Amino acid sequence: MFAGVVLDIPTRALEGAFDYAVPPALEATCMVGATVLVPFSHRRAVGYVVRTSEREPEGVDPRKLKPVEEVLAPSAFDEVAVRVAAWMAREYACPLCDALRPFLAPGQSVRVTRDSEGAPWHLAGEKVGPVDERWVSLAEGAAGFTPRANATRQREVLEALSSGPVRMAELSATMPGSASAVAALERHGAVRVELRRRVRGADETTTLSSARAKRPDRLTDGQVEALDAIRDACEAGRGDVVVVDGVTGSGKTEVYLDAIERVRAQGRGALVLVPEISLTAQTVGRFRSRFGDDVAILHSRLSAGERFDQWDLVRRGEAHVVVGARSALFAPLRDVGLVIIDEEHEWTYKQESAPRYHAREVAARLAAERGCALVLGSATPSLEALERCREGSWGGVRWTRVRMPERPGSARLPSVRVVDMTQQFAGGNRSIFSAPLTEALQDVAEKRQKAVLMLNRRGFANFLMCRECGAVPECPHCSTALTYHERTHSLVCHTCGRSWPQRAYPDPSTRCPNCGSRYLAAFGVGTQRVEDELRMLLPEDVEVIRMDADTTRGKGDHQRLLERFDAAECAVLVGTQMIAKGLDFPEVTLVGVVNADTTLKLPDFRAAERTYDLLEQVAGRAGRGEEPGQVIVQTYWATHPAVVAVARHERSIFVDAELAERREGGYPPFSRLTNVICWGRDARAVREVLDAVAAELRRRLAGAGDWEVLGPTDCLKAKVKDRVRRHLLVKSPVASEPGPLLDACVRAVRVPRGVNVAIDVDAYDMM
Ligand code: ADP
Ligand code: ZN
Ligand code: ZN
Repeated sequence: MFAGVVLDIPTRALEGAFDYAVPPALEATCMVGATVLVPFSHRRAVGYVVRTSEREPEGVDPRKLKPVEEVLAPSAFDEVAVRVAAWMAREYACPLCDALRPFLAPGQSVRVTRDSEGAPWHLAGEKVGPVDERWVSLAEGAAGFTPRANATRQREVLEALSSGPVRMAELSATMPGSASAVAALERHGAVRVELRRRVRGADETTTLSSARAKRPDRLTDGQVEALDAIRDACEAGRGDVVVVDGVTGSGKTEVYLDAIERVRAQGRGALVLVPEISLTAQTVGRFRSRFGDDVAILHSRLSAGERFDQWDLVRRGEAHVVVGARSALFAPLRDVGLVIIDEEHEWTYKQESAPRYHAREVAARLAAERGCALVLGSATPSLEALERCREGSWGGVRWTRVRMPERPGSARLPSVRVVDMTQQFAGGNRSIFSAPLTEALQDVAEKRQKAVLMLNRRGFANFLMCRECGAVPECPHCSTALTYHERTHSLVCHTCGRSWPQRAYPDPSTRCPNCGSRYLAAFGVGTQRVEDELRMLLPEDVEVIRMDADTTRGKGDHQRLLERFDAAECAVLVGTQMIAKGLDFPEVTLVGVVNADTTLKLPDFRAAERTYDLLEQVAGRAGRGEEPGQVIVQTYWATHPAVVAVARHERSIFVDAELAERREGGYPPFSRLTNVICWGRDARAVREVLDAVAAELRRRLAGAGDWEVLGPTDCLKAKVKDRVRRHLLVKSPVASEPGPLLDACVRAVRVPRGVNVAIDVDAYDMM
C-alpha cells in the first residue's frame, strides 16, 4: 500500500503531497486523515495522510519510496475534508498543512518527541486524549457476601455502593484505604470494577429560563416558508444556500431546530456555527433540550481536554449535532446533511491568522462537496449574502432568501427613538445620558422593569469629534476618519500617511474644522463611567450589572452575570458590544445605546455596515415579551442612513445607500479586497519586501485594468510589539482568484529572516 503525505512544514517552498510506502504492519491504521511520522531529507517529519492507494504512484520507482515509520494519531478527517482543505489552501494562499490543521483533534500539536533513545515517537503538546475512569459497583455476588468483622473498610465500601456505582477516584478521596478494600471485594466477587469513558465538557448548566423553551404549538408562516426552502435545498443535494432573513426574535433558532430534526430523521448530522460570544448556556440549552446527548459543543472557552472529548464524540459517531464557534466547521462529522451559520453577518467568522478563511465561504464549499444544504441566518444579513441572493445563484448553486419579518405571538418590534446629541449639547446637557434616556431609565426603575444599556466601543483608534456639530476630521484625500495621536498632538491618515498638527479640547487653540467650535474633543467613554453615572442616577434598589472585557475574564463570568440579570427583579445591564447578541430576556423593556456612531468613524469600508448590524441587533433585545419595548439611540449623526434605517425599521434605507457607495468605490460585494501585510523589526527590510511584492504584482497585472493596487502604506496599527507593519490593498473583480496570484508574487520575492508576509484574502480587519 502507498500513502500521499502532506508534511507539516509550513513553507511556501514545500507544497503538495509526498509519496511513501506503507509497511504491512501499518496498513490498518495508516488511513486518510492519520498523522504519521515519515523520513524526510535526512531527518524526520510529521505529516498527514491525504490519500492512500494499492497501486504504485506514477512516475516513481517504488523501490526508492521510503516507508511511513509510525502512525502518531488516528484518522481525523476524510477525503472530502482533504478537498475542502486543498480549496482553502488555494483560495486563502496558505500552505496545505496550514489548511489541514484545523481538521485535527483539538489539542494535538505537531511536534514529536520520545522519552528515550529507541522509544516510540509520540506527539507532544498539551496532554490531551481520552480519559478513562474506574467505576465500582455491586456485583451479583454481593448479596451472599459478608465481610469479616474487622473489615470495616469493606463494609463501608459496600454501604457506599448500595445506592449505585461510584467512581474509584471518589471512593479513594472520601475513604482512605478504599482501594485495597475494593480489590479484596473484587476477589470475592462482591463488587465489579469497570472502565468507563468520561466525557468532559458536557456539563454546562444554567438557571436561565429561556434555555428550556418548549416547542411552540404552531409555526409562523415565515418559519414554515423557511423550512420548505431548506428542505428543497437539502433535496437538491449540491450545496444550495438558504438565507433566513428574520428580525431578531422571529424564531430563527426554532427553524434551525426543526430543520436539524428532519435531517436527523434521515440519519444525517448537522453542523451549527454560532458566534463565540453568543455560544452561551442559553443557546446550548436550547439545542440540548431538543437533541439531548446527540449534541457536541465546541468552543474556545472549553479546556483542551473538554474540547477533545466533545470532538471525539463526533468522530466516534455518538453525537450528530455539532454546535460550536467557527472551528466547528472542521468537526469530524461523517454524514453532514445540513450546515447552519447563525448570525451570518458576524465578522468573527473571519479567522485572523493562517488559514485566514471566512467560515461562510468554507461552509459553502463544504456544503457543495458534501452535497448538503447551507443555512445562513441573520436579522442583518451581510451585503455579500444579500447581493448573492439578489443574483439568485453564485458559485454554481442557488442562493434563496426567505424573510421572517414578524415575531411570533404578541411580541412586537420595539419603537426606536433617535436622540441627536448635538442638540442635547446645545441645550446645555453635558451628561452621558440625554434627557429622554434619563427619563426612560427612571421609568424602568419606577415600574420595576429591566433595561440594557450598550456602549459602542470602537477599536483602539482614537479620534476627535466636535461636540457641537458632530464633525469628525477626515482626510481630504481618502475620506476616512483621521486618527488622533495624543502624544504628538497630530491627526494622521492611515490610508495615505499624511498628517496634520492638531490640539484637542480643552486646549484653547482648538477649532472645529466644520463650525469653528472649540469643543473638538477626543472621543470615548468607558463602561465604568456609565456604570458610575447610572448608580448616581438610579435609586439604590436597582441592580446595575456591568459586562465588558474586564468583568468577564474568568470562565463562566459571562453566564454568571447574565443569570444575575435574569434573576434580578429590577436591573440595568451595562455593557459593550458583547451584550448586543443573542440575549433573550422577555422582561427587558428599554434598550439604550449610549453612543451609536463611534463605529461609523472607523477607517474601514465596512464601518457603516457594522454600525447598522449592531444597532439593529441591540434594538432587538427589547420587547421580546408581553410588554412593549422601547429603544433609545443617542447619536451625533442622526441623519446617517444606518441610524435612520434602524429608527424606521426599514433596512433598505441603509442597504440601498451603502450598496450604491460600495459600487461607486469598487468595494465588496462588488469586488474582492485582499490585504497583504508585511511586518518585522527592521523597518527598511519590511519596506523593501513589500515594495518588491507590489512591483511584482503590478508587473504581472500590466494590462489588467480591472485590478487595483493601493499602497504600500503603513498599517493603521503601524507598530505592534516593536514590529513595524505596512500593507498593500488589492481590489479585484468578484470572479477573480487573488489568492494564487498574490501567493506567486510573494514567492517571487526574497523575504529575509525576521520579515513576515501575510496574504489576507477577503480581508475584514484593515488595521
Ligand atoms: P431568533 O433566533 O430569530 O432571535 P428565537 O428562535 O430565539 O428567535 O425565538 C424568539 C422567541 O420566540 C423564543 O422564546 C422562542 O421560543 C419563541 N418562538 C419561536 N417560534 C415560535 C412560534 N412559532 N410560536 C411561539 N413562540 C415561538
Ligand atoms: Zn489620506
Ligand atoms: Zn463643529
